[in-house]
Amino acid sequence: MKLDVNVLRYLSKDDFRVLTAVEMGMRNHEIVPSELIARIASLKHGGTYKVLKNLLKHKLLHHDSSKYDGFRLTYLGYDFLAIKTMVNRGVFVSVGRQIGVGKESDIFEVATEDGTILAMKLHRLGRTSFRAVKSKRDYLRHRSSFSWLYLSRLAALKEFAFMKALEEHGFPVPHAVDCNRHCVIMSLINGYPLVQVKQLQNPDTVFERILGLVVRMAEHGLIHCDFNEFNIMIDDDEQITMIDFPQMVSVSHQNAKMYFDRDVECIFKFFRKRFNLNFHEIEVEDDNSEIDSDEGSRPQFSDIEKVSGRLDKELEASGFTKKEQVDMEKFIDGDDEKESDTESVGTADEEDIGDARNEASLKNFESLSFVSKVEDNLIEDNSENNETNGQEI
Ligand code: ADP
Ligand code: MG
Repeated sequence: MKLDVNVLRYLSKDDFRVLTAVEMGMRNHEIVPSELIARIASLKHGGTYKVLKNLLKHKLLHHDSSKYDGFRLTYLGYDFLAIKTMVNRGVFVSVGRQIGVGKESDIFEVATEDGTILAMKLHRLGRTSFRAVKSKRDYLRHRSSFSWLYLSRLAALKEFAFMKALEEHGFPVPHAVDCNRHCVIMSLINGYPLVQVKQLQNPDTVFERILGLVVRMAEHGLIHCDFNEFNIMIDDDEQITMIDFPQMVSVSHQNAKMYFDRDVECIFKFFRKRFNLNFHEIEVEDDNSEIDSDEGSRPQFSDIEKVSGRLDKELEASGFTKKEQVDMEKFIDGDDEKESDTESVGTADEEDIGDARNEASLKNFESLSFVSKVEDNLIEDNSENNETNGQEI
């Protein structure tokens, strides 16, 4: 999705006021009635209606008059609110090129005041990019459409909390910088997704290191649940960094063993296929039937020894509440057909490796020193206090 931040730069204080009013209205309305938006924004002389037209023109809002005259935020509108908040907080000052399209996210480079380049992940849950979306739809049918925004916000919140906790326990993950709405800011990893790597100097070492991570995470009480060649970055020194955490679960999850085995299997399968790693001798029995004897070398879920100070317990006590966890897990569990990222981005294999390399450069960054200064409070209040009225966005 195109993110034209140029538009953002010229949005006025009133534009943001009205955009924020729509966001607030969406806490209890799928489509926010125009009068309600006008009341929340309380611009002088009926100014809200003119502003709504402008926001509509820039595709920050969607107009719906099927039941009554009203508006809802588009993802772009939500993006702008998050970006604006981050810029006001001083997290970054400009937005650069898109560096990743995940199955349910868009990743961009952003730059800080001192020129450091970071990665911005905008979560887009519900994007119709893979088969399982149907089962997700079934789960969400009884919820209003703003659930997509709610779930994207949860995914960001969860990813941020887990990344931070993993980092604190010495796991190789990006540094978690900040989080707002559906947006996570993290350090930029200098490397390639493993899926794009055709050759390794030391495939055995890399394999063992990666497998070691699955085991060590489980010892700390966590399972990645999407641990595959798309979510492991590798640099020129063959150092690895894992990414993409919204779907992680605790080892106490009812399907923990299945998720653990699936993560392990993904790694075995990929290394066997791509790097011809031979994990087992094929034993040929008298009757010529082959027995796969690599089971012995596979880490078994039942053998995992839990360390003290488990991360899953720590995270339960963090900002990511039980209810939010349950909502996310319903979403993930409903996703029966999902196998891995492979389905949605299967063509990544063919991509030119050179292009995908994340080399930090400040070329083509759009500066976001805003023309107008927004009332930070309105936006900040709204984003930090989302739980009112039992409706979330
Ligand atoms: P999704 O949840 O949609 O799969 P990911 O977090 O896996 O999203 O990110 C998608 C792609 O974006 C990754 O495969 C990677 O190429 C790129 N990417 C994500 N995070 C970073 C980062 N911190 N640094 C560099 N590239 C990243
Ligand atoms: Mg991914």
